This record gives sequence, C-alpha cells and structure tokens, in this order.
Amino acid sequence: MDSEETMMMKPKQEKEKPSAGDELGLRENPSHTSDWAFRPEAVVWVHGEPVRANLHPVASQLYSWLRRKGDVTYFTEKMKSDPGMYTNPYAFDASTLARVFLDVVNETHAAGESHEDIEPHDMEVVRIRLTGELTLLSARLLEAVLRQMLFCTAFPKKSYENASLGQLMSTECRACKGGDGPAHHISLVASLGCRYGMCRQIDACVVSFLKLLNKQRAQAGAHASTPSIVDRPVAESRKMLAEDCFSLGEGLCHALQHVSEVEEAMILEIERHAADSQRRSLVILPSKSSPASTEMPDPPATS
Ligand SMILES: [Zn+2]
Ligand SMILES: [Zn+2]
Repeated sequence: MDSEETMMMKPKQEKEKPSAGDELGLRENPSHTSDWAFRPEAVVWVHGEPVRANLHPVASQLYSWLRRKGDVTYFTEKMKSDPGMYTNPYAFDASTLARVFLDVVNETHAAGESHEDIEPHDMEVVRIRLTGELTLLSARLLEAVLRQMLFCTAFPKKSYENASLGQLMSTECRACKGGDGPAHHISLVASLGCRYGMCRQIDACVVSFLKLLNKQRAQAGAHASTPSIVDRPVAESRKMLAEDCFSLGEGLCHALQHVSEVEEAMILEIERHAADSQRRSLVILPSKSSPASTEMPDPPATS
C-alpha cells in the first residue's frame, strides 16, 4: 500500500497528526514523549569550569550549507585531545559525516551537470553509486546528529547508542517492557523536541524524511536491495541522478531545519545552565576535570 496515497485519503482533521510509515515499523502516532534532564556531560569542563556546551551545531551548520549560507566545521583525530575540546563522541562522528556528505553532494552535482562523454552503463554505475552513498550518508548523519543530542541527556545510553533511525523515532518503553500488557512506545527524537514545544514538527517531518529514504531504497529495485543497471541514454541517467538527489537533499534539509532548531535550543539551555551552576556551584557538577587551559581551539572551516 502506498503510504503517500493513504495519507492523502485521510480526512482533514487527521492530517495534522504525525503519521509514521508501517514499513518503518513505526506506529501511526509514535509521539509518546518522555521528560528528560541534562546530565553533567552536556558541558565541557576544564579545571571545573564550564567551557562550552558539549554539542557541536552540526545540524545547524549543515542546514546552512545546504542553503548555501555557511560552512561546515570538522575535527581531525589529533584535535580530539585539544584542551577544551568536545568529549561527546558523536560530535566527531556527526561532523565527519557532514564533511563527507558535502563532498558527495558536490560530486553528485558535478556528475549530474557534466557533459563529458561516458558510456551509458558507466553513467548508470555512477548514478547508482552516488544515489546509494547519499541515501546511506543521510541516514547515518541524522542518526549521529540525534545521538549527539541524546548524549547530553539523562536518557540511558543503551536506548540510543545502537538504535536505528526508526528506533530513535519509536522504541518500546523500557519501564513497561516485560510487564503484563504491551509496552507503549516512546519517541526519543520527539522527546528532545517536546521540551521546546517542537515535538510534532520534529517527529512528523523527520518521519516523512525516513519515508523518503525508504522510498529511495525501494525504487532502487523492486525486490532486491541492489539497484539494476538499466539500458537508458546517458542524459536520462544524469537527469535521474539529479532529481533523486534533489528530492533527497530537500527532505534532509527539511528534517535538519527542525533538528537544528532543537539543537540550538539545547545549546542555549546548556550554556545558561552552565553559567548558573558556576555561580551557584550546583545543578550541574563536573564529572571530571581535564588538565588543560581554557583556551578554545578553533576547528578548521571548509573552504
Ligand atoms: Zn511505559
Ligand atoms: Zn516540517
């Protein structure tokens, strides 16, 4: 059953409900949210002083880059031990994936626009490879961005560290799992947004992006997960590549818009908390201090 069609047939009043795809194993309304708190690891501490939020604005930077408005910063392996550097492992994962992602976007754009002579089958291979890379990277990127945010919260690490995107959107409640009745479902992602009044936007729009990712995978081949090389003119392969990647980029951009709003709100709240805790010496305490100066290293910007 085509989920888009069923969505269109729904009566109007149901349209606003975040609707999740069955194919993702998500419930129709996965927006059960759970209250959460920040943990001390939400802050980077140096000598017991709060230095910055332990959250790199990857979603915000990539969202700006996709709209040609800014750069994406990333970190080398060596920079990880710099004084005052993030201790959130997902900050590095997410920023590296973002850097790789924009490389593939640029390559895709060049391949789609190129007028170079190429064998039709070779162009099909380029199309399949780049579409696959972008689809996979989009999912991994979003996972890392969301995990980076969850790392700052008191949600148990087990609930997100190996979770797929679908599971981050809807997972069985740990508290009532193993009880008599069926466990209810919680969306970790919606829970992040809920604190800032953005649970519906983030839930519904990230879910619709997931649907697009799934559709892209489904389009690749009727049954197989590997797409086929089709006899078609080079120009047609190029057009398909450009169109598929455009709709993917559009979907990712929309999902990132909401995620970046939550990311920004979290960073602001962490910074406010950290400043307060310094003044009052409570609320958020450092778990450990690292031997370092308070000097902030600047990550390199892409040119
Ligand atoms: Zn429960
Ligand atoms: Zn939206």
